[in-house]
Amino acid sequence: MSMELTPVLEHLERDQPQALARLFDLLRIPSISTDPAHKADCARAAEWMVADLRSMGFNAATRATAGHPMVLGHMDGPPGAPRILFYGHYDVQPVDPISLWRQPPFEPHLEDGKYGKRIVARGAVDDKGLVMCFLEACRAWRKVHGTLPCGVTVFLEGEEESGSPSFEPFLNSARSELQADICLVSDTGMWDIDTPSITAMLRGLVYMEVTLHGPSRDLHSGGYGGAVPNPCNVLASIIGQMHDSDRRVMLDGFYDAIEPLPASILAEWKQLSFSDGEFLGDIGISHGYGEAGTSTLERIWSRPTLDCNGICGGYTGPGAKTVIGTHASAKLSCRLVPGQDPARVAQSLRDFVTARLPRGCRAEFQNHGQNPALLLRADSPMLRAAAKAMEGIYKRKTVLIGAGGSIPAVGMIKRILGLDSMLVGFGLDDDGAHSPNEKFELRCFANGARSQAAILGAIGALRP
Ligand SMILES: [Zn+2]
Repeated sequence: MSMELTPVLEHLERDQPQALARLFDLLRIPSISTDPAHKADCARAAEWMVADLRSMGFNAATRATAGHPMVLGHMDGPPGAPRILFYGHYDVQPVDPISLWRQPPFEPHLEDGKYGKRIVARGAVDDKGLVMCFLEACRAWRKVHGTLPCGVTVFLEGEEESGSPSFEPFLNSARSELQADICLVSDTGMWDIDTPSITAMLRGLVYMEVTLHGPSRDLHSGGYGGAVPNPCNVLASIIGQMHDSDRRVMLDGFYDAIEPLPASILAEWKQLSFSDGEFLGDIGISHGYGEAGTSTLERIWSRPTLDCNGICGGYTGPGAKTVIGTHASAKLSCRLVPGQDPARVAQSLRDFVTARLPRGCRAEFQNHGQNPALLLRADSPMLRAAAKAMEGIYKRKTVLIGAGGSIPAVGMIKRILGLDSMLVGFGLDDDGAHSPNEKFELRCFANGARSQAAILGAIGALRP
């Protein structure tokens, strides 16, 4: 027997003032994870989450780590129903520059905006508001039906904004307790306020630093220039060869294993009202620049890249110094897409540099990280159920979007727990996460809780 969603949505509607008061309560705790002065506040936020989870029947507790505690809460669904691992974080970004806040960052309040009222406070959207959307959905199900439609494990981190140092060790130690059928991550945004969105694609990363060594000491360019390899010239030349005239990456085998984007998704992206002019105008660029024959959205969501993120060598102080330096270095990174193997790309990058070194030059490589791209298959039953559930709330088709950057937690959840992640968030581009006057639209908070309630119901109706 399936449980009715409608009374759950009605309850959420009635309970909205209380839900808002709960969120405000949480937002008043300055849980800035990166600042040791706020260690006790982080602990207090974790305890707040535990108390809230327990109040609705979760078996919840904090778990100590080398840093800030994790929060874990479990509740079973009906027998045979799938289990969701819900991931979010209770810590927030620092508030500086404090002078740009119209009101103190930890005194949440409502302001008027173009979509009606908005919640303004540090953490309003990132990530306390999004976490509470999910918890309000759970609370409403419990209240109306006495049980959740599926099993839920709530897993909240307190170090997301400070590099998640305890995340991987904790996943390893709590592996069996974190088992589920799907991971639902809520820490992202929507395409726009009316379009429900699921981020189903995240690009991976290979990051490498290369240092070229030439002469054993700095040389006078008058005395030696033209007769010896100059590491700056050589490095610049090699980087210059990394793209062809169509801006395609020239590393050996770079594109070989890439899985083509399903035509249906490409067609969906064409329908999105994406403006190159706005996207580029915002950063003072008049024309896009990238792989020939691809759109800007494809370039940032579904095509691989190679970028130099920093380069230095020789003399870089004021004025002139005619010197040929001993070495030059560059930081190089590739954004990867599904199918690309980070280890192979890294090797190919090393080979590309090594093969082009003149005699008398030597290269040294330093690995700064490798992780693969992630793709949730468009035909995954969980994804389809969640997309359909949100369509029922917004009365509009759910779009599957990509994210240009990688989210390390999602990669670790895949690698260590073997779980795919579905990223469902309700933030907007202009929410100012990490910025002064961070806000979360009240409409997004309400629709977010409604969406999560619908997703719980839809996943509960699946049988793995
Ligand atoms: Zn976040």
